[in-house]
Amino acid sequence: MSLSRRDLIELGLAGTSAALITNVASAQPAVQQPAAKLPEGERIGVAVVGLGKLSLEQIIPALRKTTGVKLAALVSGHPDKARRVAAENNLPADAIYSYEDFDRIARDPRVGIVYIVLPNFLHKEYTIRAFKTGKHVLCEKPMATTVADAEAMIAAGKAANRQLMIAYRCHYEPKNLEAMRRIRSGRYGKPRLVVTDMLRGSDLNDPSDAWRLDMVKSGGGALADMGIYGINGARYLLNEEPVEVRAWEHTDRSDPRFKTVPDLVAWQFRFPSGAIANGSTSFSVGGTMRWDVFCDKARLRGDPGAYYNGNHLEIFSSPDEGEVKIAEVDQFAREMDWMGDVVRGRVPLVSPGEEGLQDMRLMAAILQSTREGGRTVTVDWQYKRAHDPAVAVPVA
Ligand code: NAD
Repeated sequence: MSLSRRDLIELGLAGTSAALITNVASAQPAVQQPAAKLPEGERIGVAVVGLGKLSLEQIIPALRKTTGVKLAALVSGHPDKARRVAAENNLPADAIYSYEDFDRIARDPRVGIVYIVLPNFLHKEYTIRAFKTGKHVLCEKPMATTVADAEAMIAAGKAANRQLMIAYRCHYEPKNLEAMRRIRSGRYGKPRLVVTDMLRGSDLNDPSDAWRLDMVKSGGGALADMGIYGINGARYLLNEEPVEVRAWEHTDRSDPRFKTVPDLVAWQFRFPSGAIANGSTSFSVGGTMRWDVFCDKARLRGDPGAYYNGNHLEIFSSPDEGEVKIAEVDQFAREMDWMGDVVRGRVPLVSPGEEGLQDMRLMAAILQSTREGGRTVTVDWQYKRAHDPAVAVPVA
């Protein structure tokens, strides 16, 4: 291969191909290739549970772009909305379920995967019910509101011998994957410091925020909703697990939004390699989802680093200085196709329930430290991810 890096930049291929050319990828096992478009009859049917913002604006549109899975059923408490969405997506009337008759899905051969897109406090109930119907489960993040619920969900999946995948879309997002692969290659030296800021404003009058501002229903306000991207991000960028956590909180309890949930939370993780992660999250300061990784010889910046679209990866290092250009993909479509291939046994499960549980435990440790005035909490559950996304998932 004789293309220079400048050629690649001009071709818009600087990210992936440059990594391949400089033998970054050759140090890794071959990545799995996702399925080519399958014939209609072979695509696995997905039942989307909950027709709120994420389902209507991202997931259902993405299911029109998937190649190995397809929308097969809707589960909703609003029959009119469900009929409208079914009509828009050419679904028959008998593919609509209510929450009450959801369990009937067991007898629906059109559905192979149940995708739980409900408020966090309902994830456990619907995951366990879905496993009882014999279906596989894709569940939104955070996987639950408590560590105990997350453990119960994993146990239910094992008992049913079905797959449980947590919808960590950044594990399937090209810029994040490219950053992981570059960091793993060692070309920038050791990663030493990760900084993540995941912040946005919130509105108690928006029903989609109202449950997020309720501790019981969300499991942690901004921390559970936005901060989790930084917690998970620090772990996948560094490919290691923290051993110490300390955190601080500032919440204006006179603000009606923050009667039960914390607002601004900042934390530090110490990793066995000596790397440190600084994270912050808030529901009153908006709005960004960004990360930085400072390595011995370079800084990698994802800003934005975890948006649905328009993520931006920049490298501050000679000779790699500049923006890494990789074509956008629909992260949700990729993630759902990945789940389809997991069910087919073609690719590894890179974001299993255990990955979601690790974040649940870390959020609990962060909240514990905030309650204890920033005391260091020792955390080591001996968790090691089974599959590094940087190795298992192609960049694009
Ligand atoms: P939302 O409030 O817009 O939608 C939730 C849906 O659940 C609504 O249709 C609501 O009617 C329904 N519902 C059923 N029972 C309910 C009850 N008892 N109380 C409240 N609502 C009830 O929320 P959303 O933004 O679509 O988020 C859904 C899930 O997706 C959450 O777990 C959230 O963390 C996750 N999420 C993930 C991403 C991502 O990028 N992966 C982005 C947004 C949301």
